Amino acid sequence: MTRRDSSPRAPVVIVASAHDAARIAGLHHAATRIVRGQLTLMPPGSIAALAVPVIGEGYAVPIANGTTLIGATYEVDDDDPAIRPPGHIENIERVGTMLPGFAAAADQAEPEGGWEGRVAFRCVTSDRIPMLGQLVDETIAFSQAQQLRGAWPRDLPRAPGLFGAFAYGSRGLVWSTLGAELIASQLEGEPWPIERELAEAMDPARYLLRVLRQRKAD
Ligand SMILES: Cc1cc2nc3c(=O)[nH]c(=O)nc-3n(C[C@H](O)[C@H](O)[C@H](O)COP(=O)(O)OP(=O)(O)OC[C@H]3O[C@@H](n4cnc5c(N)ncnc54)[C@H](O)[C@@H]3O)c2cc1C
Repeated sequence: MTRRDSSPRAPVVIVASAHDAARIAGLHHAATRIVRGQLTLMPPGSIAALAVPVIGEGYAVPIANGTTLIGATYEVDDDDPAIRPPGHIENIERVGTMLPGFAAAADQAEPEGGWEGRVAFRCVTSDRIPMLGQLVDETIAFSQAQQLRGAWPRDLPRAPGLFGAFAYGSRGLVWSTLGAELIASQLEGEPWPIERELAEAMDPARYLLRVLRQRKAD
């Protein structure tokens, strides 16, 4: 009797799990790094409520119930999920450069148990450009390394149905819609929303391509 394979299957998979995406997709040439970001939540009444968000080097944003959200720290390769008091000080000082008197007011208003906040992690590439598009089958690519030394992105052996959308850095809100549209166009064979040169700059295979081009002949 043949045993049925019950593992989940799909004709298309888009890996969108930020810093874990390369591992999940089995990519060895798509390195990303994490950047820790700590936000500070200032409770109602602790500082004068803002009428509008203030954004520059940092930001202070009025959110629900009179709370003000300020941020954010930017700590490369730091995977500590704990809230750290120095992060709050950094956020307050940063906003203080935009709002005169803010830092002094915050100093006076700090709650007994310290400020509350939140920590999250950005995922970035070394060129700070997202990874968007169809992934390459690295095993096949290396088995054809000799022929691929002068390759262009379109020459690479792509993994059928496997796409990536990750490494949005600090700009996920802006980039993700465009990324989704680009991948949908690639899947459907429709005109792309951006020119090929820009899509190639975001191609998750760009780092692999560099390795193949620099590889010495065996
Ligand atoms: C403090 C801070 C402030 C920011 N401010 C802004 C801002 O003002 N504007 C802006 O555009 N961007 C901002 N960003 C960046 C924004 O958060 C990211 O660009 C965006 O979240 C990226 O979206 P994503 O879906 O690629 O990754 P994420 O939002 O990180 O989502 C990845 C998802 O994958 C899941 N996942 C991970 N591993 C696995 C696994 N093995 N299996 C299953 N699921 C998995 C995670 O649980 C998560 O749900 C900020 C980031 C931080 C940290």
